[in-house]
Amino acid sequence: MPLSPATPEAIAKTVALLRNGGVVAFPTETVYGLGALVWDTRAVARIFELKARPEFDPLIVHVADRPMLERVAIKLPDSAQLLIERFWPGPLTLVLERQARVPELVTAGLATIAVRMPSHPVARAILRALGEPIAAPSANPFGYLSPTRAEHVAETLGQRVDLILDGGRAIHGLESTIVAFEPVPALLRPGAIPAESIEAVIGSLERRQPSQAVTAPGQLPVHYAPRTPLRIVEPAGVALEERRTAGALALRDAFDGYAATRRLSERGDLREAAAAFFDALHDLDGLGLERIDAQPLPERGLGLAMMDRLKRAAAR
Ligand code: AMP
Ligand code: MG
Repeated sequence: MPLSPATPEAIAKTVALLRNGGVVAFPTETVYGLGALVWDTRAVARIFELKARPEFDPLIVHVADRPMLERVAIKLPDSAQLLIERFWPGPLTLVLERQARVPELVTAGLATIAVRMPSHPVARAILRALGEPIAAPSANPFGYLSPTRAEHVAETLGQRVDLILDGGRAIHGLESTIVAFEPVPALLRPGAIPAESIEAVIGSLERRQPSQAVTAPGQLPVHYAPRTPLRIVEPAGVALEERRTAGALALRDAFDGYAATRRLSERGDLREAAAAFFDALHDLDGLGLERIDAQPLPERGLGLAMMDRLKRAAAR
C-alpha cells in the first residue's frame, strides 16, 4: 500500500512524483485531494480514470500564493479580491476566468477555472516545494463519500495512486464553498465556509445549483462546445466526397480525404486520448469546417467520459 505519513521526506517524494506525471493523494483542510500537476494532461487524465466518473468534471486547482493564482486565472473581480483577503488560505473556491494556457481537460472545456488556496500545512508544503499549481478533485471514486482520512483513500483507490500522504483527519471534513462571479456573485456549492459569512463581505449571493452551472451545456455562456456541427460516425463508412469539407476526430487511425484529421492516440490508449481530447476538438472547431465526424470510442474507462462529451456536442 503506497500509504505514508506526511514527513518532509514523503513530501519531497510527492513533489518528485508530481513533476514526473504522478497522481498523489494528500490531505487538505476540506477533504483528501487527488492531485496532478496542472499542466500535465496525461496525469490529469489519470485522475479522471481513477475516479471512474462517466463524464468530465472540472477540477479545483490549488495554488500556494498570489503569483501562482495569476498563472491560472485572469481578471479578478473586486469581490473576488475581497474574498481572497478575507478567506484565503482556506476552504473557499473561486470560479474565475482562466488563463488560456490551462489545459481544457482541467476545466472540462469551461472558459472558467475553479481555484483555491488551501490552508492545510501539508498541502501548502507540497505546493510551495513544487512551485506549480495542482489540479485536485476529492480523492474518492465516483459516487463514493468524500474521503476525510488517508485510510478512506487507501480503501477505495489503494494501489492505483502513486502515493497517499497521511496527514491525519481532514479538519473540516466538508468540501470547499464554491463562489462564481459572472454574471453576478453566486453560490455554486455550499461548503465549509457558510454562505452568510461570504455575504457579510460582498453582499447577497445568487443560489445556483452546481448541476446547472456545470453539467447543462448551453446554459452557461462560457461553456465550451464546438460550434461546428458534430456527428458520431465511423469515418471508414463515410463516402469520400462527404469527407472533403469535414474534419475527422479519430482514436488511432488516419482516414484519407478529410480536410483535417486529429488522431487522439496512435496506440489507441484511452488515457493518452483523453489528454489530447479537448485540444483536438478545439483545433478542429477552429478550422471553419462544415462538420466534424467523430469516431465512436470504446465506452469504457475514459472512453465513457469522452463519448458523453461527444454525444452532447452531437445533440446540439
Ligand atoms: P471537488 O474537487 O471534488 O470538490 O469538485 C469540484 C467541483 O467544483 C465540480 O464538481 C464543480 O461543481 C465545481 N467546479 C469546478 N470548476 C468549475 C467551474 N469552472 N465552474 C463552475 N464550477 C466548477
Ligand atoms: Mg468531489
